[in-house]
Amino acid sequence: MAAKQGRPQSEEKREPKSDFVRAAVSEDARAGKFDRRVQTRFPPEPNGYLHIGHAKSICLNFGIAAEHGGVCSLRFDDTNPEKEEAEFVESIIADVRWLGFDWGRHLHYASDYFEDLYQFALQLIRAGKAYVDSLSADEIRTHRGTLTEPGRESPYRERTVDHNLELFEDMCAGKFPEGSHVLRAKIDMRSGNLNLRDPVMYRILHARHHRTGDKWCVYPLYDFAHGQSDSLEGVTHSICTLEFENNRPLYDWFLNELGVTHPRQIEFARLNLSHTVLSKRKLAALVAGGHVSGWDDPRMPTISGMRRRGYTPAALRDFCDVIGVAKRNTTVDMALLEHTLRQDLNRRAPRAMGVLRPLRVLLLNYPEGQVEQLEAVNNPEDLSMGTRSVPFSRVLYIERDDFRADPPRKFFRLALGREVRLRYAYFIRCESVVKNAETGEVEELHCSYDPTTRGGSAPDGRKVKATLHWVSAAHALDAEVRLYERLFLAEDPGALAAEDLASSLNPESLRILGGCKLEPGLAQAAPGSRFQFERQGYFCVDSADSSEQRPVFNRTVALRDTWARIERARKRGGNTLD
Ligand code: ATP
Ligand code: MG
Repeated sequence: MAAKQGRPQSEEKREPKSDFVRAAVSEDARAGKFDRRVQTRFPPEPNGYLHIGHAKSICLNFGIAAEHGGVCSLRFDDTNPEKEEAEFVESIIADVRWLGFDWGRHLHYASDYFEDLYQFALQLIRAGKAYVDSLSADEIRTHRGTLTEPGRESPYRERTVDHNLELFEDMCAGKFPEGSHVLRAKIDMRSGNLNLRDPVMYRILHARHHRTGDKWCVYPLYDFAHGQSDSLEGVTHSICTLEFENNRPLYDWFLNELGVTHPRQIEFARLNLSHTVLSKRKLAALVAGGHVSGWDDPRMPTISGMRRRGYTPAALRDFCDVIGVAKRNTTVDMALLEHTLRQDLNRRAPRAMGVLRPLRVLLLNYPEGQVEQLEAVNNPEDLSMGTRSVPFSRVLYIERDDFRADPPRKFFRLALGREVRLRYAYFIRCESVVKNAETGEVEELHCSYDPTTRGGSAPDGRKVKATLHWVSAAHALDAEVRLYERLFLAEDPGALAAEDLASSLNPESLRILGGCKLEPGLAQAAPGSRFQFERQGYFCVDSADSSEQRPVFNRTVALRDTWARIERARKRGGNTLD
């Protein structure tokens, strides 16, 4: 059945989503909390490119806001001037858009609130709730205590309000070197929650910020900025990952002491994916170490890498729907992601023929110089995608693997004396094999074709056991094809330290095939466009390296669906990976 335009079928058909986060938000809306408003945000720190884990958070935040007719903003938590770059901001904007979400005019930066945050800090100092500490970073760490031992109060904790105000102003005026003082919240050094042991709110950094330039030489810590930014924006539901559960009491403390409105914070489990890492720091290490070509290397689990690889935004949204949202950390099998991708591409990708490892075939009885245009279906899953014509002539290429000089028992494809069908074309029979005199390697096949089988069936009803894809040699588009495998050998490379990651890299994660022969219509394919190469998998035109002179196609995913196999095994009650 044909998919409708726009949203893929699966998204249209799916039941309304439900999970514990959605249930909590709906309950608040029903109870009339927050004046029945729902406002969420996606708050990335611009210190790297977004990955598929972020996609989960994006789908959740933008999804919930849309379901309630509310707003979801995109806010850059850009409090750390040292790690952030405009490049990351731009890539994040492009990636969220590409995923299909729109923040309208609600694009914010925590740095827009530096003045408000500074005023909040003064308010806490005046209320005796914050003080300037002059211990070194190391001393602060040792005073902090551990989970089993209480912390110790700083000797500077009892400075007067006036003295604190004066010191903080001088910190802001750039009168002190980095590390000489910090501003800390005055909470409880004996708290069981380490986050409440007088956390640092501000530090001195004589650093240039990508948006505020040299205006500030003190910068708020994330924990002081985050909750207040939510509050300033009128966020009603601050949805974040589980590791922020222990920060919630601190966010509440700041908001209560400041007497400003509170969003409700709800924590969910972050996405972990097998055979890859989802941590910007580790992904940055792969880029910096030259193990991948960049953040958008098609092997990276980044949104930009996946886009370049040929993933569709709909497939990523579908994946996020399928995995759902829970409170417990789990690892999702990469095979599920690939399964979702295949389902989407199967509906939307036009078919084409591409020979990756070509073997020449000469049709002895096909008239020299003759070219026929044969009709091929663009997508058997969606006949509204129409047909195209593919040229056929005397010299063709087939896949080297589709011929065996010495065929094993269950090999039904081409062999000497055997007949097969060429897709959308004719039956051909292999009459003789030309081998290299020295190496013995098969160089060319001499075949005959049966002119009565045009379109792929024989009038006398005889059958063949295999249908092969092919490309006319004279018309073929020469292309480079890049085949990708998993980037890591380990199932859980996330457990490795950043410096040990390289040892688990899969040496075969990228194989480059030159001299591939593709059907000529693909010469017009725009960068990023996606196809199913029949019998091979899904491919897309590389958006960075492909050119008219040198077309490059990425294999997005092979056709064989391992997820179906895993599911079958699971239903049988067997092991998940056989
Ligand atoms: P990383 O660990 O990759 O550096 P991060 O949490 O530091 O990620 P942020 O830029 O702070 O990255 O993330 C923005 C938002 O995305 C946060 O709300 C965070 O909770 C969410 N997020 C990050 N990683 C995941 C993940 N793997 N699954 C779900 N949500 C995530
Ligand atoms: Mg973070």
